[in-house]
Amino acid sequence: MLLISSPRFGEHTTPPGHPERPERAAVFDAVAVDFEARGGRVLEPIPATREDLARVHTAAYLDRIAATAGHAAMLDPDTFTSPESHEIAVLAAGATVMAARHARDTGEPTLALVRPPGHHAEPGRAMGFCLYNNIAIAAAALRADGLARVAIVDIDVHHGNGTQAAFYTDPSVLFISSHQYPYYPGTGAADEVGSGSGRGFTLNLPLEAGATDDDYARVYDERVIPALEAFKPDAILVSAGYDAHAQDPLAGMRMTSAGFAHLISGLSDAAGRLCQRRLALVTEGGYHAGALRECLDATIGVIS
Ligand SMILES: [Zn+2]
Repeated sequence: MLLISSPRFGEHTTPPGHPERPERAAVFDAVAVDFEARGGRVLEPIPATREDLARVHTAAYLDRIAATAGHAAMLDPDTFTSPESHEIAVLAAGATVMAARHARDTGEPTLALVRPPGHHAEPGRAMGFCLYNNIAIAAAALRADGLARVAIVDIDVHHGNGTQAAFYTDPSVLFISSHQYPYYPGTGAADEVGSGSGRGFTLNLPLEAGATDDDYARVYDERVIPALEAFKPDAILVSAGYDAHAQDPLAGMRMTSAGFAHLISGLSDAAGRLCQRRLALVTEGGYHAGALRECLDATIGVIS
């Protein structure tokens, strides 16, 4: 597998006490240093282009976020920028595009360790700590490059409303999200299934608070993997949020790193069967430093 990582992801800062804090980048850096020390390959990302970003976000939105460069701004009650945030968020989107293209070209599973996260960012709105929708931008890049079908699986404990919004009417991108429900951001009910020609290409799997490794394993074995098999994707992208971990301070699930390893192992096997192992993962949430570290190590263990 390949890791894409940069110490620069620590440069996006948030107000004191904010859960999406630069210490998360220190965890990514430690994971990357260890991976490299064991002989693994780590690449520095390149920034996304405006063309990449504009496949998902509106021009007005891109201008608004670009205008935050050089100063601090509050974009919504949870979402803040520091002077570097625009630049670092563009780098996060670029890292994700790079991961997706590398996996497509080589069949080597690729993990991008990035912040800020992306899956709550809608085409025209920042929210939930997210500026640019990294995974949606990567899926759109693969489509623009000529792949017919791309699947996105969002394992983060929160519903990926932004990713859903980006592809809600699009039958070429299957969006699957498992998440605590009802919970932030409020969307992700089972009857949100896509619309128009995209109907049937959004699969929401809401779970009650308290769900365990076994609960998640059942949902992935019985719903997620069969949906991927029916869709026959040309690549599988994963929004790898680890905030369903029992130690996570934000949500109320009870997963362990072994549980995450099981889910990712299942997705990796599916990528092997369905799309020549074209599997790219990008970080989303995960707000307990120790649990995040454990989960990333477990992820690397099953896709190596
Ligand atoms: Zn989350």
